[in-house]
Amino acid sequence: MDGIETTAVLDRQPLISNIQRYSVQDGPGIRTTFFLKGCPLRCPWCHNPETQNPEREINYDPEKCTGCGTCVQVCPSGAARLEGAVSVLDRELCTRCGRCVDACPTGAREWVGQAMTIAEIVQEAKGDEMFFLSSDGGVTIGGGEPLFFPRFTLELARRFKDEMLHVAVDTAAFCQWAYLDELRHYADLFLIDLKTMDGDKYRDVIRGSLAVVQQNLERLAAAGATIRVRIPVIPGFNDSEADFDAFAAYLGTLKGRIAGVDVLPFHAYAGKKYKLLGRWEGYQYQETESLQPEDVNGLARRLKQAGFSPANSGLTIGGLTG
Ligand code: SF4
Ligand code: SF4
Repeated sequence: MDGIETTAVLDRQPLISNIQRYSVQDGPGIRTTFFLKGCPLRCPWCHNPETQNPEREINYDPEKCTGCGTCVQVCPSGAARLEGAVSVLDRELCTRCGRCVDACPTGAREWVGQAMTIAEIVQEAKGDEMFFLSSDGGVTIGGGEPLFFPRFTLELARRFKDEMLHVAVDTAAFCQWAYLDELRHYADLFLIDLKTMDGDKYRDVIRGSLAVVQQNLERLAAAGATIRVRIPVIPGFNDSEADFDAFAAYLGTLKGRIAGVDVLPFHAYAGKKYKLLGRWEGYQYQETESLQPEDVNGLARRLKQAGFSPANSGLTIGGLTG
């Protein structure tokens, strides 16, 4: 990587795809989670597909469309047209000029991805401070992948700390160690997604490197960072007993150096998001039903055998798949 590319990576500016208030899934207490839009990985089950592409996108919800035809009139590229009682959005032709978004009277078309300065994000978080204080909560930087935007995330975490807020970072840890090494000075908690212990699957399906993730996780643990490992249970990908024996064997080597493990059963709620983004056709989990906590108890038991216990939240089952 040459100097110009390095600067470009460091200085990437994320859009914010969502601000989730009153979250109890992304760290202790009541939290406000900021979702950064952009990720280098390509998990095909991604629960937040709107955070994968760093560019602004358009959600289109035909259920909100009245067929008024306004979008057809304002669209300069023929990408909006009426078919029957509703309009369609032809994403091949769409240039994302946004005219239909501005003109649609029902909100059937809306932007995903909002530019915000760090000062604006911190101000948003400060508005929720009384909930944090009453619950020992705080802010969570999630995504997407926060470390896809290293300088922005470092500065955001530093500014949150200046405001004395509890800071959690939800990351896959697929990044250069130097970024995490600096971030650990501002992050009170790392939520690290571990998706498989099979390096070939990590590379071929997710398009990342398990070796990089493991090295970062081990270095963070050795440095004394507070870490919870989160395992999304994905049918057909990592839900076999052998998969969980591998998780247990590896995580057992980190026992005492990580705060706990969260097992997150797959859920099907993300399907609607793929439809809104026009990605339903390529979504591999159209027919896959949500797993319940009781469906993964047997797998989680293998982690218990490795020494992770529900006592003191060393092992939790439930929550939302990342
Ligand atoms: S402007 Fe909105 S409500 Fe009207 S046809 Fe287009 S998408 Fe539907
Ligand atoms: S964003 Fe622009 S090009 Fe795309 S459908 Fe709307 S008006 Fe047409």
